[in-house]
Amino acid sequence: AEQTFDVVVIGAGGAGFSAALEAKQAGASVVLLEKMPSVGGNTLISGGEMNAANTWVQKKLGIEDSVDLFVKDTLKGGDDKGDPEMVRVLAENATAAAEWLKDEVKVNFLEDHLFQFGGHSVKRALIPEGHTGAELITKLKKHMDDAGVVLKTNTKADKLITDDNGKVVGVEATGASGNTITFHAGKGVVIAAGGFGSNVEMRKQYNPEYDEKYMTTDAPGTTGDGIVMAQGVGAAITNMDSIQTYPVCNPKTGVISLVADSRFDGAILVNQSGERFVEELERRDVISKAILAQDGGYTYQLWNQSIADIGKTIEVHQDEYDMLVKDGLLHKAETLEEAAKFFNIDPKALQATVDRVNQFAKAGKDDDFKHRAGLKDMSQGPYYIQKAVPSVHHTMGGLVINKTTEVLNEKGQPIPGLFAAGEVTGVIHGKNRLGGNAIADVITFGRIAGQQVAK
Ligand code: ADP
Repeated sequence: AEQTFDVVVIGAGGAGFSAALEAKQAGASVVLLEKMPSVGGNTLISGGEMNAANTWVQKKLGIEDSVDLFVKDTLKGGDDKGDPEMVRVLAENATAAAEWLKDEVKVNFLEDHLFQFGGHSVKRALIPEGHTGAELITKLKKHMDDAGVVLKTNTKADKLITDDNGKVVGVEATGASGNTITFHAGKGVVIAAGGFGSNVEMRKQYNPEYDEKYMTTDAPGTTGDGIVMAQGVGAAITNMDSIQTYPVCNPKTGVISLVADSRFDGAILVNQSGERFVEELERRDVISKAILAQDGGYTYQLWNQSIADIGKTIEVHQDEYDMLVKDGLLHKAETLEEAAKFFNIDPKALQATVDRVNQFAKAGKDDDFKHRAGLKDMSQGPYYIQKAVPSVHHTMGGLVINKTTEVLNEKGQPIPGLFAAGEVTGVIHGKNRLGGNAIADVITFGRIAGQQVAK
């Protein structure tokens, strides 16, 4: 079968939805291809937090921030392997992208709470209602249906089609019944097919360290197809060996723990000996490595009720909490001694650690690990203790794009008709992506891709 649209977008995650919507808004006819039966990708299962500088919430909370500081934090967080010009495009446009989500797409963000993820100098991550990407994807999908973008699920893009001049003019795809469908694209194709965290072979190809021993937090559809397809028409790739683990995930499934977001409100990490071993707001890669260096390669996250009450991570992620408790991976204890004994930690050692934390909380200074937000008093129970491991979470590498999201070849020239945005690209995050920067990246560059391809 053959179908013709102005624009074909591959991948229905945050980047694909944003691109499809903007292209449609600009007057193009648009089809969005998704290989899985349902939409959302990694965006859906993420915490959904989005960094931007000088947002309405920062203003309300009296937090001073700037585009320059956002750029600086992001570049430093990636060991200066991100492209400074592209990071600036992100930082300059993320605020408008967040406002677009709020005002046009009707995403509800919390009005009085922001996260400060590791590596950021200030609180700048907007939090969607429900603290997950579901709020983003639900609203984006509704907006897209209303706008009349054609969505094809169970439709896997296999190959880009080029004309005699090397311009990308369509996509060959496989439909639900194994049938081949050719989608002709009058104006161009946007690749928004996500990263390759769920593809163990591809992980090993680019960095043997991230083999089967790691589980992944990622959606099953993130298998790097977009990268391979673009390489088929000569696209360049970069930073492919940069693979990020998320430090606190379910030791049985590899799934990211959002209950453990209490870490951003003051929860501490201890090892089997009941000792802290890393600053809890360090970068993800640093914390992950520190955890893997402990006996058994796991950590326990510990917090008390007053910390739990700040972000209410248990209430907003009640299903995850109930499952962790049922699986014996999280325990609520009246006393610290009970919490320690649940996981065979020496109660005296854990008490000594918490006493020290309380002392640092009072002094406003963490002499051991320099906790950047300041430790919180944990003298009062009840306590929560959770076992966690690092799991593959984000692939920083991918396609090389320019400021207008054109995909570049090995010579640095744009491949006509081909655009890309989101985790499939590799120029923003360098060695390490900071928390809240993925959603900022996918929405900001997804929008730009949609606007450009429709021109
Ligand atoms: P981003 O955060 O960059 O938007 P996501 O992981 O949220 O990335 O979304 C990527 C989407 O692309 C996923 O839903 C995934 O299933 C889909 N996808 C991956 N490969 C293909 C393909 N070959 N054809 C169609 N969809 C794909």
